[in-house]
Amino acid sequence: TQAFLARIDQHRNLNAFVTVSAETALQQAQAADQRLAAGNATALTGIPIAQKDIFCTLGIKTSCGSKMLDNFIAPYDATVVDKFNQAGAVCLGKLNMDEFAMGSSNETSFYGPARNPWNTDCVPGGSSGGSAVAVAARLAPAVTGTDTGGSIRQPAALCGITGLKPTYGRVSRYGMIAYASSLDQGGPMARSAEDAALLLQAMAGFDPKDSTSVDQPVPDYSATLNDSLQGLKIGLPKQFFNSQLDSQMAATIQAAIAEYQKLGAIVQEVDMPNLELAIPAYYVIASAECSSNLSRYDGVRFGYRCQNPADLTDLYTRSRGEAFGAEVKRRILMGTYALSAGYYDAYYLKAQQVRRLISDDFKRALSEVDVLMGPVTPGTAFKIGEKTSDPIQMYLEDIYTIAINLAGLPALSLPAGFIAGLPVGLQVIGNYFNEAKLLNIGHRYQ
Ligand code: GLN
Repeated sequence: TQAFLARIDQHRNLNAFVTVSAETALQQAQAADQRLAAGNATALTGIPIAQKDIFCTLGIKTSCGSKMLDNFIAPYDATVVDKFNQAGAVCLGKLNMDEFAMGSSNETSFYGPARNPWNTDCVPGGSSGGSAVAVAARLAPAVTGTDTGGSIRQPAALCGITGLKPTYGRVSRYGMIAYASSLDQGGPMARSAEDAALLLQAMAGFDPKDSTSVDQPVPDYSATLNDSLQGLKIGLPKQFFNSQLDSQMAATIQAAIAEYQKLGAIVQEVDMPNLELAIPAYYVIASAECSSNLSRYDGVRFGYRCQNPADLTDLYTRSRGEAFGAEVKRRILMGTYALSAGYYDAYYLKAQQVRRLISDDFKRALSEVDVLMGPVTPGTAFKIGEKTSDPIQMYLEDIYTIAINLAGLPALSLPAGFIAGLPVGLQVIGNYFNEAKLLNIGHRYQ
């Protein structure tokens, strides 16, 4: 714990942390030492981790990357935080992220962007950018992230680490600040699939405090890491490998897939005709849900309140106007519009219908093959500032990840090589609750 705290201090320039909770971490480390001595340790006892600043932590600031919650100290722990505490893990602090998890580059954070350790002029990806930086720069051995449309997988890919977005309902959302509740899912980010398995083991499981948590037994994720991949059927969605995919990216991904063929896997093409509708459907649904979820920030109950409000309307409008950033406002406006009377059928209902078609595409494909593989991102890490003026360009960053959230499936991003010194991620998509297979596939690659 002391070594990691010192390293975090040395690498402040990476802006990975919003809060470093050194004192609590050292106390937890001491308690872990006692637990180890008493002989009732778990695999995570005494292991320093860090939490994305979207998970509520009792007594330690939870900002969600926003000025709105810059003064917010939660009165309780998120279930995920509680589970790590139960396991005896040490929490080093809270990690930088895009404001309310809306973004793909960590640039919408109120605290400024975290920096990609492979090239500090580049973004780390987002929204779990601080999480990916912390692991890639060895500021923490393993961390948490959340993924609504790609926010675990995309930064994992751009920083060269392993990230797993579990099946929707696998990990409790209790105490995880809501962005788009039907898509949000917490998961592990680590140096390897093996480490991610240990983290998921601690995070997963039914939680009566989350109404969408699924009551399914949690398998031993470490037990099957070395299973043979002989005869594994890999599907390559035709729509992922079209002319829009950069040729160097395509070559790197194909080379990674060829490694699995050497391990005995069989590759076939699959057709998923509705995939191209994922981005527009996602941005309608995610914005709609965000406009509803973020209505709770009214200047009264949580967080920021404007100075000297003239009346209640002034209190609401100025508190929200002063504390939300531009991207969050854009989403609230889009979502409110999409949900309003007269437009609801044309946008929100239509997007939900498209969502079903996309889920059906995945169901069909995953009845023919065991897993799907493809890229995580269209390119490697881009320069800070390069895409900030064009929201559509930024939204396209998630073209390969978003459909998976619409379907609620699990997917892994694993390091698959480099282009010009910057990491490339391979995405592996599995069937519902088959995280163990994804971790097995990730582990066998290394
Ligand atoms: N980039 C996507 C968005 O801005 C996804 C973010 C996420 O997964 N939290 O909505």
